Amino acid sequence: MEGELDGGCNKDRVGFDFPEAELVKSTELFTNCTNIVVGKGNVEADILFVGEAPGKNEDLQGLPFVGAAGKNLDRLLESVGLSLNDVYVANILKCRPPENRDPLPEEIRAHTPWLLKQIKEMKPKVVCSLGNYATKFFLALGDVDGMKKQPGITSVHGKAREIEIEGVGFNLIPLFHPAAIIYNRKIEPLWIEDMEIVKKVISAS
Ligand code: URA
Repeated sequence: MEGELDGGCNKDRVGFDFPEAELVKSTELFTNCTNIVVGKGNVEADILFVGEAPGKNEDLQGLPFVGAAGKNLDRLLESVGLSLNDVYVANILKCRPPENRDPLPEEIRAHTPWLLKQIKEMKPKVVCSLGNYATKFFLALGDVDGMKKQPGITSVHGKAREIEIEGVGFNLIPLFHPAAIIYNRKIEPLWIEDMEIVKKVISAS
């Protein structure tokens, strides 16, 4: 699977030499990270989950969602009868921001062309944006300056809408971020209800 590593460092990897990867490599985040975190799961799945950015564990292992948020995501998926074989998981940023700070607009601009390339190749039926950053990026149809004007996850979670970015169409279904559920267990039932909507949209498409 592309991007899967067992420790080590993938920064010099042959194959990460297409224009979207070169753009990521031109950012300071790349200079400071251990690994480029491409994604994990099943590239042939109907569902793509998109989080915000790699954290410390993700940076060290070269895989998204392997730390506390990832363990919660695994548990949540299991609770709705799904596994990593049913989804692919990626992030808005491919490299960890220092001290896990929020992504900057210019970083989102430089890192998301690679994500959009993945979406074009994978052609998922549903993209589930996890939390505010990913949700605002897709609601703004990839226009980073337009992200500030977008509503937050609390008002849009579970609402499916068909969107098209750079000629690729899919259903966007925003979900609460698994890390937010660690701190606020009250939103877990909403996540589970929202996943039922994801399943319905997939079976209808
Ligand atoms: N949070 C994210 O948004 N992505 C990860 O890969 C890990 C934690």
